Formats: sequence, structure tokens, C-alpha cells
Amino acid sequence: MIGIYAEISDGKFKKSVLEAASYANQMNSNGVVAFCVGSTNDDEIQKLSKYGVNKIVTIGSISFDSQNYTQILSKAIQKENIQTLILANTYEGKSIGPRLSIALNASLATNVISLPDMNQGFSVKRSVFSGKGFAYVKLIKDTKVIAITPNSIDLIERPTSISIENFDGAVSENKTNITSTHKAEGKIPLTEAEIVVSAGRGLKGPENWGMVEELANLLGAATACSKPVSDMGWRPHSEHVGQTGITIKPNLYIAIGISGAIQHLAGVSSSKVIVAINKDPEAPFFKAADIGIVGDAFEILPQIIAAAKLNLN
Ligand SMILES: Cc1cc2nc3c(=O)[nH]c(=O)nc-3n(C[C@H](O)[C@H](O)[C@H](O)COP(=O)(O)OP(=O)(O)OC[C@H]3O[C@@H](n4cnc5c(N)ncnc54)[C@H](O)[C@@H]3O)c2cc1C
Repeated sequence: MIGIYAEISDGKFKKSVLEAASYANQMNSNGVVAFCVGSTNDDEIQKLSKYGVNKIVTIGSISFDSQNYTQILSKAIQKENIQTLILANTYEGKSIGPRLSIALNASLATNVISLPDMNQGFSVKRSVFSGKGFAYVKLIKDTKVIAITPNSIDLIERPTSISIENFDGAVSENKTNITSTHKAEGKIPLTEAEIVVSAGRGLKGPENWGMVEELANLLGAATACSKPVSDMGWRPHSEHVGQTGITIKPNLYIAIGISGAIQHLAGVSSSKVIVAINKDPEAPFFKAADIGIVGDAFEILPQIIAAAKLNLN
């Protein structure tokens, strides 16, 4: 049996959960069980059934920051005889994947970008060295935990009926509780965004980010930035992409006034299409970009915004 860990944000399943379901139902036609901690609603549950999930096990509310979380979740997973668990390589997935693999005595592969190759003894392709290379890893234990990179698996609908079961796995009292959480600003989470509009020191100052935000709003995109921009406090650190920031893999990455240093590229080079706008024709970004626009961002960006408005109205 295959399971997926269904992450919830504000009562809704993240897009990466649908990717995990699409991955799972391509591996197995016998059914997929989703495990979700926290509350959601019927519409959301039906959404999962569109992507081949035929059972959802809901587990009340446990503090994510507690050992009980892994204990209860692993008990629920064992009860359903899950042999392969798929989750997304998000912040939450990165935290829970290793803990679950210990609790389940499972092999773990993270940053996975392909379905397992059964002819090679359950081998998966992983992205390594910040997307610069690939590794093929064999998962040798009976139980396996696979963490897939967000945006690397196509969504595939496979409608089915879904049953709901509640798992009551009460264990000893939580030792730690989250008293409050502060979410990163921005409407679209950076790691899940299909389009990202990003800008660097070439924009001269925080007062010029209105253009970046306007373009992002028009395209339904998330905003990002280079490291110096967040270091100088022009933008929040949650937007910093690169080797020491977030790694993203959107369908379209638009880089404005960013030089394209190797440390920046480490976090964005797996994007499907990269557009770089830079006034320096020798900027390193042009070597990594699919489309390069040489020119002043302060002249080019307003033209792109005007064109987007024209086409979207
Ligand atoms: C250990 C380490 C880790 C690092 N990690 C990261 C990381 O995770 N992410 C990251 O981004 N950086 C990281 N860096 C920093 C990285 O090396 C670069 O210094 C940084 O990415 C440069 O940011 P930038 O391109 O915004 O600024 P700059 O290097 O100053 O480049 C600005 C660019 O804007 C262009 N420009 C200027 N004016 C205009 C205009 N009007 N119109 C169009 N273009 C214009 C310039 O031609 C230039 O190419 C790291 C560095 C180290 C040493």
C-alpha cells in the first residue's frame, strides 16, 4: 500500500500534496492513503480523491513541534500497512521525513525528481549539489520514504471515491506547544509558485519594488530576491533564493537586475524557463538564461507590465 503525507496550510492541502498523490497513483493502482494532521473540509478532501487518493486518515491536532507528532503519525502509517510513503520536500517534509524514516525503520530519499525504477531494484533519481547533478539511489529497506521536490512531478487526475477514517492515537502529553506562528508575507508561497519574479541589487533600493510586485500580481507570481537585497533589509529574508536561501523550481523565473552569481544560480537553475534582464551584456546570468534581455530594468520593466496588462485584460 502507498501512503502520502498530506500537508495542510490554513485548512487547505498544498499543491505539493496533489503532486505527491499524482506520484503515488502512478506507482500503484491499488490505492493511495493520505495521512493528514489537523482539520480540513469536505471540498479539500474531494480534491484529493480527484488525484487518486481513496482513503484519508485524519489525525486530530498535534503540535508539529513535538515528538508525539512523529509517534502518532508513524502509528497511523503502520496501521494501514504502508510500505512506501510519499511526501513533499517542503520545510515541513524536510523536518518530518527523516523523523518518520527512523520511526518506520525505512529507507529515505530526499529531493526526488523521478518515479522509482523497479528494474533497478527501486532506484530513484535525486537532484544533488544544488541542482548541478543527479544521483540514483536504491531504497533497500522494506519500508520506504520518498520526499519529492515541489514542482517536479506533473499533476495527473485519476478520480476515485474516498473514505474518511479518524485515527485516535493519543499518547502522552506534549512537552512543547507552539503558542503562535508568523507566516511569511506574500500571497503565493515561494516554493510552490509556478512563476517567480525576482530582483537584485540592480533595482537600487526598496522603493523600486513596486514594479516587481505589480508584475508579480499581474502574472499570479511570487516575489523573490538575491541575498544582498535581503541582507540590506530591502526585502524579507523569506524571499532570499540561492545556495544559502530557498531552492525553487518554478516553470518561469524572471530575474531583474541580478548578476547571476553561482550562489544565486544554485537556488534557481532548475527553473524550467529563466528570463534574465540586465543592463550588462556580460552578466553571468545570461549564460544560464533561456531568454536574455539586455537593457535598463527601469525602462524594460514598465514595458513588460504594460504588455502584461494589455494581454490580460
Ligand atoms: C557563501 C556565499 C553564499 C551566498 N549565497 C547566496 C544566495 O543564496 N543567494 C544570492 O543571491 N547570493 C548569494 N551570495 C552572494 C552572491 O555571491 C552575489 O554576491 C549576489 O548574488 C549578488 O546579488 P545581486 O546580483 O543582486 O547584486 P550585484 O552582484 O550587485 O548585481 C547587480 C546586477 O544588476 C545589474 N544592474 C544594475 N543596474 C541595473 C539596471 N538599471 N537594470 C538592469 N540591470 C542592472 C548589474 O549589471 C549587475 O549584474 C552568496 C555568497 C557567498 C560567498
